[in-house]
Amino acid sequence: MSISKKFLNELDNNFNITFGDKGTKNTWQAPFPPTVKCSKCGGECRPAANFTERKKANEIKAKNHLAKVHNFNRDGGLWPHDFVAIQTYFCKKCLNIESEYNQA
Ligand SMILES: [Zn+2]
Repeated sequence: MSISKKFLNELDNNFNITFGDKGTKNTWQAPFPPTVKCSKCGGECRPAANFTERKKANEIKAKNHLAKVHNFNRDGGLWPHDFVAIQTYFCKKCLNIESEYNQA
């Protein structure tokens, strides 16, 4: 499996990406917790990467804005309605991935 250049460009253009502990400060609301509990084994998960969507005036209308990826009014189901910050974690015991998010 390979990651396409197009995907990497979209990621780079739309998100600030921070690895490790420093990412928990990148948020639209309260800071993300320094650790979370693993939903599979109960172990401790530590911060892996943070993806915070950029919010610049000229990007609000960008078609790649995550909130616009699905039209939740038509598709139904739940989906973020605003710019998001996503914090991912790896479990120290089983490497399960957990994540937290919030919105602007
Ligand atoms: Zn685990």
